[in-house]
Amino acid sequence: MEKQKIVILGAGYGGIMTSRRLEKLLKNGEADVTLINKHDYHYITTQLHKIGAGTASDRKIAMDINELIDPYKTDFIKGTVSSINIDTQEVHLESGESVPYDYLVVALGFEVETYGIPGIKENAFDIRSFRSSKFIYHHIVKQFSLYKEDHDPSRLTFVVAGGGFTGIEMLGELIESLPKLCKEHEIPYNEVKIMGVEAAPSILPFFGEESAVYTTKFLKKNGVKIMTGAKILECTPDAIHLEDNVKIPTRTLIWSCGVKGNSILQDSGLPLIRTKLQVDPFLRVNHIKNIFSLGDCSLFMKNEKSALPPTAQVALQEASFCAQNIVATIRGEELKTFEYHHKGSVASIGNKAAIGKVGRFTISGLFAAFMKQIIEARYLFMLGGPALIFKQHFIVRNDQVKVSANQ
Ligand SMILES: Cc1cc2nc3c(=O)[nH]c(=O)nc-3n(C[C@H](O)[C@H](O)[C@H](O)COP(=O)(O)OP(=O)(O)OC[C@H]3O[C@@H](n4cnc5c(N)ncnc54)[C@H](O)[C@@H]3O)c2cc1C
Repeated sequence: MEKQKIVILGAGYGGIMTSRRLEKLLKNGEADVTLINKHDYHYITTQLHKIGAGTASDRKIAMDINELIDPYKTDFIKGTVSSINIDTQEVHLESGESVPYDYLVVALGFEVETYGIPGIKENAFDIRSFRSSKFIYHHIVKQFSLYKEDHDPSRLTFVVAGGGFTGIEMLGELIESLPKLCKEHEIPYNEVKIMGVEAAPSILPFFGEESAVYTTKFLKKNGVKIMTGAKILECTPDAIHLEDNVKIPTRTLIWSCGVKGNSILQDSGLPLIRTKLQVDPFLRVNHIKNIFSLGDCSLFMKNEKSALPPTAQVALQEASFCAQNIVATIRGEELKTFEYHHKGSVASIGNKAAIGKVGRFTISGLFAAFMKQIIEARYLFMLGGPALIFKQHFIVRNDQVKVSANQ
């Protein structure tokens, strides 16, 4: 049988883990695997808020893809996918290159949902990629420098929109990093304002009331003002406007209010539901036997009414199944139906606190923060074994990641 070409788009959680699993499952000569990603590093998306706040060094979060994959088993192409042609079975890159495939795995992740609110796209910041997160940090530092010149309070007012997982994690990092920036710039910390704005009546709906109460108390104690039931209507370069004519002067709105599928998929001719690729129980894009999809750009219905949430945990479990099902397809074996097993969720609030739900238990505080560290270490273990955990904790490089305009 001719050697099959498997092409994986995106080296985030879903894509890189699919390639690692395929490296283990495929027999010599069975298939060629190509992994395509915009940049030559894999970033830990769940920790991007640390890059945004400047509380983690670049290389703790972004790792060279070539050091994570087996170069004898996976070809890596650094390139930006511009389109997918399902008739000719080719992926087109912005560089003009075309990459043919027999089997395609679409793991292109998420884009930020702005809900068409005026000024969000133009003026708000988002924690979407390594670059966009780095951009937040540079912007914050710039505001401190400029404040020393003009003493405009809007420069030191930092607003995070969205009281879900990501928004709360971002607020938690800001209370770690802003006091340090104040010290460096010799600005009293009481001149800084940190606010969390949520349109729903409460924060963290997924974690339940106990966690929401704990988080609100913790953030308030650390000087964060939480506004719930507050809908943002517009964002300008120097203010946000809420309902009831409330205006908050700020130069920094960090938008963390939801995600949608990658826009590349819009013109691909692939079946979409709410911007995402709807997949069947085997993780194949509906009705297409050689295209699989997983992670945030896909929609897996867990029952008739609801889909699995866009989380790293879902993407990782899907990756393992996806790799198994591709190999089974190539070998003409029976495919396995994907079943998701939720193992719990933990959200950090800075370094020393977190909240979470593990099984029936609600956890919070230092213990939850410890659990978060375990979850992060577990991911490194899955990706590169104990050697990667050791490397990322003890001998992590200290050079900065070079980011380019289209990342
Ligand atoms: C700040 C933050 C905190 C989070 N915390 C948690 C958490 O604690 N637990 C949890 O379960 N989930 C968490 N999530 C959600 C989780 O990170 C996502 O669900 C997960 O990253 C999805 O994995 P993915 O592989 O689908 O996409 P991603 O990890 O986003 O990867 C997509 C990859 O595709 C690449 N790409 C995109 N477009 C192109 C293109 N055109 N060409 C080439 N490459 C492209 C991207 O650069 C990226 O490398 C968090 C998310 C954020 C932002």
